[in-house]
Amino acid sequence: MYKELNTSMRTILTPGPVEAEPRVLRAMCTPILGQFDPEFTAIMNETMEMLRKLFQTNNHWAFPVDGTSRAGIEAVLGSLIEPGDRVLVPIYGRFGHLLTEISERYGADVVTMETTWGKVFDPAAVINEIERIQPKIVAMVHGETSTGCLQPLQEIGWACRQMNVLFVVDAVASIGGTDVKVDDWYIDACIGGTQKCLSVPSGMAPITFNSRVEALLLERKKIERGLADPDASYSTGLGRSIRSNYFDLSQLMDYWGPARLNHHTEATSMLYALREGVRIVLEEGLEERFSRHRLHETALVQGIKAMGLELYGDPACKLPVVTCISIPDGVNGESVRAMLLEDFHIEIASSFGPLKGKIWRIGTMGYSCRKKNILHVLGALEAVLIRHGVDVHTGQAVQAALDVYHGEKPQ
Ligand SMILES: *Cc1c(COP(=O)(O)O)cnc(C)c1O
Repeated sequence: MYKELNTSMRTILTPGPVEAEPRVLRAMCTPILGQFDPEFTAIMNETMEMLRKLFQTNNHWAFPVDGTSRAGIEAVLGSLIEPGDRVLVPIYGRFGHLLTEISERYGADVVTMETTWGKVFDPAAVINEIERIQPKIVAMVHGETSTGCLQPLQEIGWACRQMNVLFVVDAVASIGGTDVKVDDWYIDACIGGTQKCLSVPSGMAPITFNSRVEALLLERKKIERGLADPDASYSTGLGRSIRSNYFDLSQLMDYWGPARLNHHTEATSMLYALREGVRIVLEEGLEERFSRHRLHETALVQGIKAMGLELYGDPACKLPVVTCISIPDGVNGESVRAMLLEDFHIEIASSFGPLKGKIWRIGTMGYSCRKKNILHVLGALEAVLIRHGVDVHTGQAVQAALDVYHGEKPQ
């Protein structure tokens, strides 16, 4: 016989997945409704309304794509890109490479530009490149989880709008934890994530897009309708129609819109979860939520510095929901992480590619972002580092965080 699941209660301080909001987990136990049941379609419409507020947009279209965050990225890029389209991807970490790879798979002529990891782009450099190569789409990451950096977007968005370029933004890590202003920053299509700052399990990707994107989707859809015409010649092949069925946003519009055309079977329980997660965000208030994230980030950063550790990355563009720490010379980062997990039930993250073995990453996202967790990780990390022979400033870290919580100015 297999045993019933009995998982440990972990303190999860990675940049995703993070601890789920208890209310979200409870909402997932709500009974299933049929997806065309008026009670359920009302929940769908309400979720769209709530997502518009989360994305700070007046766009009509705001709904989740079923699948993890990259399903949202693939739906947006795959529905916009036609083979040969030029796409500019400015890369400053691992997730820029994901945008590149997905664009390439849909046949785009991808042009990349890179900057040093740990920094972001000067908007002027991106704008120059847009002028030079004249892409159809610029695809960029807002909060780069792998390096803990936050890219300012408004100037780039404005330039894209002026030059009639579509601006696609991966805000998977930042949505719900720091400002993402879709309309003010001239973002044409934006993808969010659930398992990061929304504290909803992984399995859906909320997206939003505007009428510029919609117009293009409708153009590609018309051609597909033409093919459904029995007189249409097979030699036209798929024409310009969107290559993926699952990720075809024009079909998803008919599914989420008044036509309610059947597409996939809705991930009902995940929608309950997302709705509850966003309801919590709106209840807390966006500004209050963002300042809560900043408070705990400050306490963590002051604690890390007081311990004598160094932060990685340019502080001027630090992502408030991910803090990267340089692993001290000679310390086995993985051994530290393993001890944190085994002895303290705390999970923190390592990083990828050139940063593997060089930094630890601590996420302060959503429900995981709270005082108990910050004090807990600082105390535990100090103990584990002492155990690893690191000469830390003993007893300082938790005190520095408490100073922040008790409103004293950090020294
Ligand atoms: C986590 C993350 C993704 C990928 O999300 P999945 O849910 O794993 O598909 C994409 N972009 C960014 C910036 C992320 O942080």
